[in-house]
Amino acid sequence: MAGKVTLVGAGPGDPELLTIKGRKALEQAEVVVYDRLVSPALLEHIPPAARRINVGKEAGHHSVPQAQINQILLEEALAGRNVVRLKGGDPFVFGRGGEELEALAQAGVAFAEVPGITSAIAAAAYGGIPATHRDYASSLHIITGRAREGKLPDIDFEALVRTKGTLVFLMGVTALPTIINGLLDAGMDGGTPAAMIERGTLPGQRRCGATLGTLPERAAEMGIRSPALIIVGGVCSLAEKLCWFERLPLHGKRILVTRPKERAGTLSGKLRALGAEVVPFPCVRTSPLLPCPAMEDALGRAAEYEWLGFTSAAGVEAFWSCLRGMGKDARALGGVKLAAIGPATGKALEAHGLTADLIPEVYDAGHMGRALAKAAAGRILLLRAEEGSPALTDALADAGAAYDDIPVYRTFYDTPRSAELREELEAGRFDFVTFTSASTVKGFLSAVGADADFRGFTGLCIGKQTAREAEKFGIQVKIADKATIDALVALANV
Ligand code: SAH
Repeated sequence: MAGKVTLVGAGPGDPELLTIKGRKALEQAEVVVYDRLVSPALLEHIPPAARRINVGKEAGHHSVPQAQINQILLEEALAGRNVVRLKGGDPFVFGRGGEELEALAQAGVAFAEVPGITSAIAAAAYGGIPATHRDYASSLHIITGRAREGKLPDIDFEALVRTKGTLVFLMGVTALPTIINGLLDAGMDGGTPAAMIERGTLPGQRRCGATLGTLPERAAEMGIRSPALIIVGGVCSLAEKLCWFERLPLHGKRILVTRPKERAGTLSGKLRALGAEVVPFPCVRTSPLLPCPAMEDALGRAAEYEWLGFTSAAGVEAFWSCLRGMGKDARALGGVKLAAIGPATGKALEAHGLTADLIPEVYDAGHMGRALAKAAAGRILLLRAEEGSPALTDALADAGAAYDDIPVYRTFYDTPRSAELREELEAGRFDFVTFTSASTVKGFLSAVGADADFRGFTGLCIGKQTAREAEKFGIQVKIADKATIDALVALANV
């Protein structure tokens, strides 16, 4: 089969600023060739079996020369593979996308291009600077500030000044003084509003607001580094009014999320939406204990139970796999009532068309046990973790309720050691670490070592039990007032 290369614009940094078409191309890729400015989160769309080739500059190393990149694309496509060439921003805006496609066209290799959102417009937008505005600019100019082989950048400053439009310089950090002097010498007013946006659209975004005359000094004071835009023009005066991104409540906060990967979505998504930089680091994983003869037997006699109790989404999934494996579906439950420990477990049931009849007022094992004991007259079936909390069964036993407690999944907290994470934590690079269960604390400690210095961050804990586990190791904690993701998120947001 003939191979193909799809050149995809990755957007400016925020991983959600990838186009739908770009994401689809990534999901179909067999080989992905990517650059330094591409967000690691985007690589998660790539099928696990696909090969990843990083041709970008890493600190201290040189990037792969353009001719060699062209060669890699050619070879992979000629070998019949579906290749995605992923480039920061838009591939055709100072991205050499044209050069790469020329090489493919010449060799007769099939290709397509998926445009991306360019940083030239998006990083400015996240900095509160609209590229044009009827009161300030009627044209927009995107210019490279990159000097070729040590020479000064070849820019016609007089022509630029005459446009009276918004000027956006990419790759201009090194040449900043040359650019500013060029504009001043060409007659632009030193009081013209100007700005720089560093790491635009990313959680660490910084904005330097100044005038043309003061920009080099202000940028030096702030230590602005690449990647950054230089923006010159009246539109920059709107930034103070419009810089919505920097004003997000968790902007500038860095948070480690230890929740298992398959369940990190809502927590990470909510924290990101509030402006936090989320670093996923799954510290526990669960695996259903299947086949599970005890569960099969119990489900085969489902009608003998009055209640079925779940304490996690993992339990619901193990139950559902078992039921489907028996060739049955929800009808096998007949009139059995369903209890869930909290809304997330309730949602996992909803995904299979089942509605929880009972969710305790407080989402923990003890409250669930007491609520179930009160509601139940008949037998209760609990399908939960191998090391489920005794608080649940104690409450049932105390009330004299009849129950069967069947372990249906196992939790692993054998997270591999990460010296890198430990170093970052000890250097104070994280504001918060989230703990959604006592087992995430165990997994976290397995990764960083119980003897690490935990003073640099606060642990955000879903409940008292989780907090107790963290406090044992000297971690400072804040405890959610309800065992929900929203309450956990609220802890970061004060
Ligand atoms: N094709 C890319 C630009 C590549 S040139 C695009 O369309 O965005 C690289 C330059 O882009 C950097 O030197 C910097 O000036 C700019 N840039 C890229 N990402 C940026 C970001 N997140 N914030 C600010 N500037 C960025």
